Amino acid sequence: MPSLLTRQPALPGAPGYGKSSIGDVLSSAAAVLGVPGYENVLKLPVAPRICVVLVDGLGKSQLKQRASHAPFLRTVVAEDSRGEHPRTLHAAFPSTTATSLTSLGTGVVPGLHGMVGYDVLDPRQDKVVNLLGNWDAGVDPLTWQPYGTVFEKACATVPTTTVSLPHFANSPTTRAALRGGSFRGVQSKSERVEIAAEALAATPTSLVYLYWSELDKAGHAHGVDSPAWERELEELDAGMKRLAAAVPADTLILLTADHGMIDVPRAARIDYSLFPELVDGVRHTAGEPRMVHLYLEADATEESRQQLMAAWLEKFGKQAWVLTREEAIDAGYFGEVRDGVQARIGDVLILAREPIAFYDLRRVRLQAMDVVGQHGSITKTEREVPLLRIPVTAKKAKGKRR
Ligand SMILES: [Zn+2]
Repeated sequence: MPSLLTRQPALPGAPGYGKSSIGDVLSSAAAVLGVPGYENVLKLPVAPRICVVLVDGLGKSQLKQRASHAPFLRTVVAEDSRGEHPRTLHAAFPSTTATSLTSLGTGVVPGLHGMVGYDVLDPRQDKVVNLLGNWDAGVDPLTWQPYGTVFEKACATVPTTTVSLPHFANSPTTRAALRGGSFRGVQSKSERVEIAAEALAATPTSLVYLYWSELDKAGHAHGVDSPAWERELEELDAGMKRLAAAVPADTLILLTADHGMIDVPRAARIDYSLFPELVDGVRHTAGEPRMVHLYLEADATEESRQQLMAAWLEKFGKQAWVLTREEAIDAGYFGEVRDGVQARIGDVLILAREPIAFYDLRRVRLQAMDVVGQHGSITKTEREVPLLRIPVTAKKAKGKRR
């Protein structure tokens, strides 16, 4: 059967796994700090202390467009000419938190770590499970994602600290993606900055991971194009300025993100379950509204799959790519795919190209349609994230503080 891809606009290339992806940040940092088994593929400069700031939902283009709300970071971008490291990284695919943070935490591609979306099929239970805030009790995080984490390996060589929100301390997603080292849970953003700076100063070498959740939340609720998002960007900017002034002078501060974000107008948030031809022969739907996994009934034929794909193309081919699982894997979107992960990926994938989002309201709650800022697909806006090296503004190297 001729591939339906030939009827569609060219697909973007695979994420830069192993070269310039979110999965290369902590592993490169670990290599710089002398942790065995890692390579500094990002060509990060040598430093005894490294702070990786992960800003949830800060895409490269959003930062650029709203730079007037980030006077400090704007200067950092403008003046960052030192070093060979890439200034743009790719999120993992799908461009969503569970997937990208697991690549960050393990240094491993999605096809191996197996966190291939927000909601995905657990073939063992024949059930769609959530891999973020609503983790399924029947899924063991360490079986689902069996690779060791960078933190687990790093903490034997260098004091390793996560500074995040208290409720993530032992969450299944943390255990799957970012377990290891010590964990400091703090609600307030400004306190998180202080504690990160303290942890960096406490020992002559250190690896600190600082998680910043608030921008993504504002984007989902109000959109990137909103005063609420701009306010959060201003707060991030101020927080980073304080961090740069508070850490020891020999600290390397890196800021990156797990994905970007695109605003989807209300009218373009579609309940596709209303169209029988778009769910005909589909046993499970999952993914995210901008990267839908469709899993077919066990007795589905290749012909019925092509029919389903043709129906999607007919209706939404101007706004989305429609791929088979094999086409997405061949395109390198998941990286190398291990046995057992293959079946977690939909037989058919719908990747939004335009500002549109696809819901199955038989499965998800109506409130999910209130989400304005969205991500998951492979457009530039969603997948390009910054890698910023924030210069330390402290005067001279400090030893043990407090
Ligand atoms: Zn998000």
